[in-house]
Amino acid sequence: MSKFHGIGAYAPTHSYELLPFKFDRLNDKEYLLTNMVGEFLVIPEALLGDIVGHTLPLTSDWLPDLRAKQFLRFPEEQAPLELLALKLRTRMSRLAQFTNLHIFVVTLRCDHSCPYCQVSRQSEDKAAFDMTPEMADRALDFVFRSPNPAIKIEFQGGEPLLNFEMVKYVVTQAKERNRTEGRNLQFVIATTLSLLTDEMLAFCKEHQISLSSSLDGPADLHNANRPRPGRDSHQRFEEGLQRARAALGFDYVSALMTTTEKSLPRVREIIDEYLRLGFDGIFLRPLSPYGFAIKTKRFMAYDAARYLEFYKEGLQYIIELNKAGIRFSEYYSSLVLAKMLTSNDPGFVDLMNPSGAGIAAIVFNYDGTVYASDESRMLAEMGDPAFRLGNLLEQSYEEIILSDNLLDALEDSFTLSVPMCADCAFEPYCGAEPVYHHAVHKDVVGRKPESGFCSRNMGIFKHLIGLLRSDPETRQILTGWANRC
Ligand code: SF4
Repeated sequence: MSKFHGIGAYAPTHSYELLPFKFDRLNDKEYLLTNMVGEFLVIPEALLGDIVGHTLPLTSDWLPDLRAKQFLRFPEEQAPLELLALKLRTRMSRLAQFTNLHIFVVTLRCDHSCPYCQVSRQSEDKAAFDMTPEMADRALDFVFRSPNPAIKIEFQGGEPLLNFEMVKYVVTQAKERNRTEGRNLQFVIATTLSLLTDEMLAFCKEHQISLSSSLDGPADLHNANRPRPGRDSHQRFEEGLQRARAALGFDYVSALMTTTEKSLPRVREIIDEYLRLGFDGIFLRPLSPYGFAIKTKRFMAYDAARYLEFYKEGLQYIIELNKAGIRFSEYYSSLVLAKMLTSNDPGFVDLMNPSGAGIAAIVFNYDGTVYASDESRMLAEMGDPAFRLGNLLEQSYEEIILSDNLLDALEDSFTLSVPMCADCAFEPYCGAEPVYHHAVHKDVVGRKPESGFCSRNMGIFKHLIGLLRSDPETRQILTGWANRC
C-alpha cells in the first residue's frame, strides 16, 4: 500500500489573493510582471487575464513561480507578506544611513577644455576659483554631521590636482577628526591624471587615496573629446595610469568614459582600448545635459535610440568576450542587474528612489555653496540655482538638509507617486532623477514620454531582461555581474 496520497491531494484548494504588482507588455506575445522588491516574471499574454481575474487553475505550472516571487498568496499565508516586507526593508536600508558621498570641488581651474565638459571650468591661473582652508573646515564640519558610518570624500574640479595643497589639507584634517569619529573613511580624486607628480602619488599611497579618471577610447577619439595644450591628453592619461598603478596598486585607479557623437560608431574599439590598458570593465556612459553640454547643445548630438544602438552593440561584444573567457563587464548593466536579481540596491544616485540627490551624495563648491549633486552645481553655473541648498558660511546643517529646494525635489519626484512611473513595470529598477528632468523639462517630474532618461532606461531594462532569457551562458555571465556589484 502507498504511504502517500496522489499528487492531487497536495494541490491548494483555496483561491489565491493578488499581492501588489505591475505589468507591461514586453513584446507581441508576452507581458512582464514586476513587484515593489524587483522580482520579475515574463508570462504569455493570455495568462495575464487569468491571473488578475482569479481564474488561474490551482494546478497551473505558473503557480509555484508566482507564489515564490510574491505575486500572489493564499489567504492564510503570512510568509509572503513577511518576505515582501523584509526585501523592501533591505532595498531601502540605505536611506537610514543617509549621506555617504561628499564631493569637495577644490578648484574650478582645469588644463583641459572639453566641449562637453559638465563644469564651467576656469583657466589654470585663476586661483580665485580655489577652495580655501576656512571653507574646507566648514565642509568637514558638515561631513561629520552625517550619521553614515561610511564616509567617502571625493575631490572634483576643474582638475583637483591644480589645487593639491587643498586635497592634502582636507585629507589630513578629515583623518585627524576621524580619530574620535571612527568612521570608515575613503578618499577619491577625480582627475585626468595629466598633472600627476611623484609627490602626489606618494601622498595618495600614504593615505590610500583612489584615483577616478577618464578614458574615452583610442588616442584620436580621446584627444578629440578632451583637448588640452599639446593635444596629448591620451598620452598623459596612459603614462599617469601606469605610474599610478605601479605606486598605488592596480585596483586604485578606475576610468569613466563619456559617449560623444564621435564615439557612436566605435564602441568595439573603445572596449578594446579598455582591454589593452588592463581594465576589467567599462561604463558606457551617455552625455549628460548639464553645464557646457547643455549650453553648447552637445547632449542633443544623439538621441536615446542612437545611444541604445551603441549600448547594445557594446554589450553584445562584451558578452562575446566573456564567452571567449575574457572577464569584462559593463558597469551600468551590472547596477541594473543587481536591482533585478538581488534584494540589494547598489545605491547608484541616478537609479535611486527617492532620488539620491542631497541625501546619498552632496556637493561643496569651492565658494561654500552646497548643491544636491554634481549635476546641480553644473546647472547653477549655467545660471539655474534650482538645486542650490545653501552656503556653508550662512546656513546650518539642518537648514541645508531640510531646505525646500531639496525636500520639494525629493518629494515631488518620488517615482511611486508621479505620472507614468507610478504605473511603470520597470519602476523597481529605475530612478527619480529630478535634476535631469528639471534641466531638460524645467520640472522635476518631467514628461516621461519625451524623456531621454526614461526611454534610454526602459530600453536598457527590456534589453537586459531579453538577454537574461536568451541562453544559459549569457544568463550566467549577467548573474555574475549582478553579484559583483
Ligand atoms: S522614468 Fe520611465 S522607465 Fe523609469 S520608472 Fe518612470 S516611466 Fe518607467
